[in-house]
Amino acid sequence: MNSIIDLRSDTVSKPGEGMRRAMASAEVGDDVFGDDPTVNLLEERAAALVGKEAAMFVPSGTMANLIAVMTHTRAGDEILLGDQCHIFNYEVAGAARLAGVQSHALKNTEDGALDLADVEAAIREPNIHAPRNPLLCLENTHNRCGGAALEVSTMDGLAELAHRHGMQVHLDGARLFNAAAALEVPAARLARECDTVSFCLSKGLGCPVGSLVCGPADFVREARRNRKMLGGGMRQVGIPAAAGLYAFEHNIARLADDHANARLLAAGLAELGVFEPNVPQTNIVVANVRRGSLEQWVGAFREQGVLAVPFGRGRMRMVTHLNITREDIEEALRRVRRAVEAVAV
Ligand SMILES: *Cc1c(COP(=O)(O)O)cnc(C)c1O
Repeated sequence: MNSIIDLRSDTVSKPGEGMRRAMASAEVGDDVFGDDPTVNLLEERAAALVGKEAAMFVPSGTMANLIAVMTHTRAGDEILLGDQCHIFNYEVAGAARLAGVQSHALKNTEDGALDLADVEAAIREPNIHAPRNPLLCLENTHNRCGGAALEVSTMDGLAELAHRHGMQVHLDGARLFNAAAALEVPAARLARECDTVSFCLSKGLGCPVGSLVCGPADFVREARRNRKMLGGGMRQVGIPAAAGLYAFEHNIARLADDHANARLLAAGLAELGVFEPNVPQTNIVVANVRRGSLEQWVGAFREQGVLAVPFGRGRMRMVTHLNITREDIEEALRRVRRAVEAVAV
């Protein structure tokens, strides 16, 4: 049982014994020279898992998305994306500053998708006045939309529309394996019609660090140049890559447990009459607070040893992960009940 039940994010998960042993015994080399056998194996397995030709290991999901945007576009282009997506909200406008592109944010539907008609209307006619629209970015699962898992048909429909207009599609699949687990479809099928896809090792997969950018071999070759430019070329990085290989074997099949724990948490919160949680499809619980201030509630939870994060106006987020057991959720709910009694609004 954890003394502090940390539900701020699945990024807070810590590597266990098995993963640490795999890291300690990893064969390594200089990855900038392509010499690290563990990284090479990780990239090969990652590409196969998402059904792409090639993959590249990068330090973070933010860098993965930035490199994808940079590699798909030229400075002065315009990308289309959802107004709730991570690239638009949480990546410090790197696409603008570092890739030099303008973002046209379209209203996300509640389930994390985009309206086909909105996308079509946003695509500009070729015109001397207009920026080019080479790229549509999607996100699955959708973090701000409560970890929503976008169905194959939704993914395919949006990709088909983009391709019909000569655009490429990048999928921010930071939690793609959560979507695959929730929908019971292979990750590769969800990503099939997307040209490129990135995913994180450092979230539900429980690794200390790392993400992958996957796509066609020629795209990944060019992406390696951009990674080097951004300072993301690393050396004996087989050590964290070994954690990724370990996670592919041990931590994908268990994601459904996190989803069950999130549903349990949401159901328990709903009973208290103060919070309006989503019905989680994956490992993210987002709850509107009906009474009192958000800061007061996050503080009251913390007093009881339950960590949550503010997540937009009047909303908090809690995320389950591999260090959180069913018993932790039951205990978290007991503590939240005490917080509600202590605050008594
Ligand atoms: C966490 C996250 C990222 C970025 O990952 P970092 O490794 O934290 O930079 C990108 N997209 C989504 C949807 C995420 O949840």
